[in-house]
Amino acid sequence: MFNIVLFGPPGAGKGTQSEKLVSRYQLVHLSTGDIFRRNIREATPLGTEAKAFMEKGELVPDDVTIRMLEAEVMQHPGANGFIFDGFPRTSAQAEALDRLMDSMGSPINCMLALEVEEEELRERLKGRAQTSGRPDDADPAVIQNRIDVYNRETAPVAEYYKAAGKYRGIGGIGPVESIFDRLCAAIDEVAAI
Ligand code: AMP
Repeated sequence: MFNIVLFGPPGAGKGTQSEKLVSRYQLVHLSTGDIFRRNIREATPLGTEAKAFMEKGELVPDDVTIRMLEAEVMQHPGANGFIFDGFPRTSAQAEALDRLMDSMGSPINCMLALEVEEEELRERLKGRAQTSGRPDDADPAVIQNRIDVYNRETAPVAEYYKAAGKYRGIGGIGPVESIFDRLCAAIDEVAAI
């Protein structure tokens, strides 16, 4: 198995690149944001719980998010590996993910971190709001809160993977194909070790 954490601030291109990586490497894509949005559409109890946090651009509490992620992983026993997109977003989530993957004998191989500066993120999210239909893309105050939450709670997660020697920074500016090429080069390099 080959397991990737695709990391980066909101608007860094994680969703776009995940789709391309899934088809190249036949991995299972788990986006916690997508799973929460599906639960909101289906009006499940989990969706109801997550909605209030998402609308404000706050993180859904760790216990809820971790339980959900573990259940999703368990639904793919035969997977070649996973792309975790939007997870982990806190240190507690990173530790829980390690425990889970270690218990399956299939640790995280690398964190690929898309690097994009804040001004560009704000512009991208504003543009995305025209087509995404996401309420959390539509309000500049919520966008700013998501960026602030990222800087405060999520960015430190990179240190966790740096300490484990698993961090790879990837330039996230430029054509989608060029960024994809950089991601693939990093994956192929890690896989060859
Ligand atoms: P995303 O689609 O990754 O931008 O996530 C959208 C929203 O879902 C976030 O702003 C959070 O409210 C929530 N969310 C997604 N993933 C997580 C996570 N790993 N931990 C907590 N909240 C999350």
